[in-house]
Amino acid sequence: MSKLGLKICWPGLFDVGFLFRFFLSILIFDAGVMAKILIVEDEKDMARGLKDILEFEGYEVATAETGKEGLQSVDKEKPDCIILDLMLPDLDGYEVCSRIRERSNAPVLMLTAKAQDHDKILGFKVGADDYLTKPFSVGELLARIMALLRRSAGYSHDAEVIRVGSSLVDVKHFIVRRGKQEFSLSHYEAEMFKLLYARANQPVSRDEILDKVWGTEKFPTNRTVDNFIVKLRKKIEEDYRNPRHILTIYGVGYKLSP
Ligand code: CA
Repeated sequence: MSKLGLKICWPGLFDVGFLFRFFLSILIFDAGVMAKILIVEDEKDMARGLKDILEFEGYEVATAETGKEGLQSVDKEKPDCIILDLMLPDLDGYEVCSRIRERSNAPVLMLTAKAQDHDKILGFKVGADDYLTKPFSVGELLARIMALLRRSAGYSHDAEVIRVGSSLVDVKHFIVRRGKQEFSLSHYEAEMFKLLYARANQPVSRDEILDKVWGTEKFPTNRTVDNFIVKLRKKIEEDYRNPRHILTIYGVGYKLSP
């Protein structure tokens, strides 16, 4: 165990570090560009250790020591993945994560010394994609970062999986995933979501939703639209009574704000 609290797993020709570098080279070859990782961590030794390891693995690395600096770096650096320490001097890590989600779809790996389940669940609720408890092994950290980058690269190239806040909506397979929860979408819920997403950040009227989702063969009412919006919110929103993404535009209809 080093002073960073990281268990160093290499060197060694056939060790995990070698295998990760091998698979990383495939990932980099696939992506054609180097992934950029932002480390938000106030403990200088830990931040420096992580930076060295990630740069050694070929990643481009940016660092921030506070939550506010981290948020600025998300805007400025546009990282592909963010490693976020939970215990920061200025802002609560959960708040930082939730504010990252308002500005970036990059996967967030939370680091913390806490191991309780409720901390992990809260992390997922505010939009974290994965969670690692200190002390952790370098091999596990690298494996998780690679998995996150692979998944997010898949999502960005595949518009059938759409991030809305902390939820991932898979319209092809009619599934919504939020943290470890999974919900099924009905045909009409999926069609309604697709319509709202196609017009993201613009209001869509109830009449248009009725026309495009239900068509003229059925005889639903505006109330049907409202009922399906509630169903969709229960699956996609963290708190469906206080929606932050599927918004009511009074007198018009609804707007999706991913
Ligand atoms: Ca810290």
